[in-house]
Parts: sequence; C-alpha cells; structure tokens
Amino acid sequence: MAPSGPSSVKRRCRRCLYWIPVLFITIIVCWSYYAYVIQLCIVSMNNIGEKVLCLIAYHFFILLFVWSYWKTIFTLPMNPSKEFHLSYADKELIEREPRGETQQDVLRRLAKDLPVYTRTMSGAIRYCDRCQLVKPDRCHHCSVCDKCILKMDHHCPWVNNCVGFSNYKFFLLFLAYSLLYCLFIVATDLQYFIKFWTNGLPDTQAKFHIMFLFFAAAMFSVSLSSLFGYHCWLVCKNRSTLEAFRSPVFRHGADKNGFSLGFSKNLRQVFGDEKKYWLLPIFTSLGDGCSFPTCLVNQDLEQASTPTGVIVGPKRNEQPRNDNRERDLANLNVGRR
Ligand SMILES: [Zn+2]
Ligand SMILES: [Zn+2]
Repeated sequence: MAPSGPSSVKRRCRRCLYWIPVLFITIIVCWSYYAYVIQLCIVSMNNIGEKVLCLIAYHFFILLFVWSYWKTIFTLPMNPSKEFHLSYADKELIEREPRGETQQDVLRRLAKDLPVYTRTMSGAIRYCDRCQLVKPDRCHHCSVCDKCILKMDHHCPWVNNCVGFSNYKFFLLFLAYSLLYCLFIVATDLQYFIKFWTNGLPDTQAKFHIMFLFFAAAMFSVSLSSLFGYHCWLVCKNRSTLEAFRSPVFRHGADKNGFSLGFSKNLRQVFGDEKKYWLLPIFTSLGDGCSFPTCLVNQDLEQASTPTGVIVGPKRNEQPRNDNRERDLANLNVGRR
C-alpha cells in the first residue's frame, strides 16, 4: 500500500536528509578542485612543466573518481525477479497462518524450482515478510531502502545507496580512485606543505588552501586505505560485508567460504572476464545476482558425489526435489568461470 499523510511527508524529509553525506563529499571535492587547480597549480607553481603535468594527471584522477562515485550513487540496486515473489493465493495462505508449518510448506514448494541453496540458521527457507518473497542466495532486506537487495553488501550513507550486486564493482573502483586521488594530492602538495611551515610561500590566501588540502587528503587517505584494503580482502574471499559478519548457511550448515571459488575466479565474479573493463566503472560482474556458483567441495556430500541430473533421496524434513535443481547446481559450478 502506498504511504499517505504525515508518515509520507516524514519519509520524504528523511530521504532528503540522507543526501547530506553526499552533499558533504561533493562540497569537499569541489573545494579540493579549486584549491588544487587554482591555488596550488596556477597560483603557486612556478615551473611550467610541473604545472602542466600536475594538471593533466589531476584531471585524469578526478575524472575516474567522480565517474565511479556517480555510478555508485545512481545505479539502482537490483531486486529479486518475480519468480521469487509469492503468488496472490500463496500470500493469502501465509497471511492466514503466518507462523505455522503452512508457511514453510508454501516456501518449500516455491523454492524447489528456484536456485536457492542457502537457509536460515534453523534450516528453513529464507523468506522476507516485508517484500513477501523467497530470498535468493546472498540477498538481504535493507531497512533503509525497505527492499530486498541482490547480493547486498551494506547500505552506504556516503553514496546514499545500497551497495550490492548492481554496483559493488563501482563501489570498489570509487574507493580505489578516491584513494589514488588523495595520494596524488598528498604527493604533489608535500613540497608546498613543507614550504608553508618554513615560510617559503608568499603570504597570500593560497598558502592556507595548500595546507588544508594536504591535511584533508592525508586524513582521507588513511581512512580510505583501510576500507579499500578490507574490501580487497572480501573480494579475494568472495564474501560480502554481511557474510563476513555472519556466514551463509547451506543445507550442510554454515560455511563462510561457501561462495569462494579461488582467488582468480572470485576476482572475475566482481570484475568480469574481460580485463580491459576491470578498471572502468562499467558493469561487468558475472551472473544475474539471483544465483551464484558455490564451491563444489563445500556442497552436500550427496550432491558432490552424484552424477549430474540424478536425483538423490530427500533429506529429512525436505520435500523431494526435482532434478532441475541438481542440474542447475552442477551447471553453475562447472559452467561459471
Ligand atoms: Zn525484503
Ligand atoms: Zn539500502
């Protein structure tokens, strides 16, 4: 139901407030542009060669930084496709008996034709009450967006968006390029920063811009490098931030490395197969966001040792599965690169 009245106004106000961190970053970047280009390069640099080189390199870094930031903010997060949603009849059935075995019966029937391999801690099918759908693997409900987000990593206030399957590559590049941008400023501003403290700069307002620019860039470099390092580690392990805090649960139990396919394949899951696009904020991640290849050795022993397409006996408390799921799993594991 569409919200109306005071609660809708409140929600709209809250949505406006969510843009404050983005506005803050935008103001800092605009000021850094003015401080670096005008006050440092044009006003303070005397050597023409240094001036031209710094201006060209600076514009290269800021272009990549702003491009990836823009893409992270404005790429809509992906939501589960309609086959994960409950039909009207199933919704009614569940609403009538929300906590009983009926719910799990309905969900099991729906899930048996879906590529869903993760479970709740208690072994039940993962279900979102708010969106009324079976959660695809790695999908989580974001309380800020009030939607289920495919391969949700986290909701980032600095981009006012959910970081997930659709924009995780952009987010990583945003971290990388913002870090490079800051390090470049620190490296080229350092000698002028030293001149500031040794009274080597003319007494104009440029010297204060140069000093604050160095402090700001150095400060952001420290925080960005730790965040970027952490996300590099997550990519190598093929884990989302949420999965790093709580391991995904498969039918054989919780397994923090359940989605890990080895370093090279993990990298390709996010950046794609074509290396020429790796460093550009263009969507190249593999898959559809709803199903993910898993590490075969970590699957049920029954599945690992079963020839493709052959049905094995259902486990206790589980409905018999059709062979599509087994075949899907085998295809995913073998076919994905
Ligand atoms: Zn949801
Ligand atoms: Zn969100």
